[in-house]
Amino acid sequence: MIRTGLGKDLHRLVSGRRFLLGGVEIPSAKGELGHSDGDVLCHAVIDAILGAAGLGDIGEFFPSGDPFYKDANSWELLRKAKEKVTAAGWKVLNIDCVVTCEEPKILPYREKIRASLAKALEMDIDSVFVKGKTNEGLGETGKDEAVEALAVCLLEKK
Ligand code: MG
Repeated sequence: MIRTGLGKDLHRLVSGRRFLLGGVEIPSAKGELGHSDGDVLCHAVIDAILGAAGLGDIGEFFPSGDPFYKDANSWELLRKAKEKVTAAGWKVLNIDCVVTCEEPKILPYREKIRASLAKALEMDIDSVFVKGKTNEGLGETGKDEAVEALAVCLLEKK
């Protein structure tokens, strides 16, 4: 059995916060605001794999109102989500993602981000891809007020 999953997340960008994508810190004037560390890409991938497995969503497993998840390491949450998906009998075949923001540029960090996500998911780097886009100056992402991530995945029942 094969299933697809879709995840989406958006975080406000503010000064004085780290900019994290897939567990990789990228130098930037602004970073993601969030109850956790705000890693928008990890959050989107978590929702994609949990959704594909029919297990739930990130808010159910890691509630943002829970003090336990204050400043939580989202890369570790992704590892935990992957463990739940594996325990339910699913293997993640591939992940594909789009990150939209004006700044910083994603391309110079792309391979590092792919490697980091692949490590969390215990997958080959070939099966994990990440693309950076801008929003042509339009909307929150275009105005450098937010960063958005979309992720799709394919799961196979082992
Ligand atoms: Mg989030």
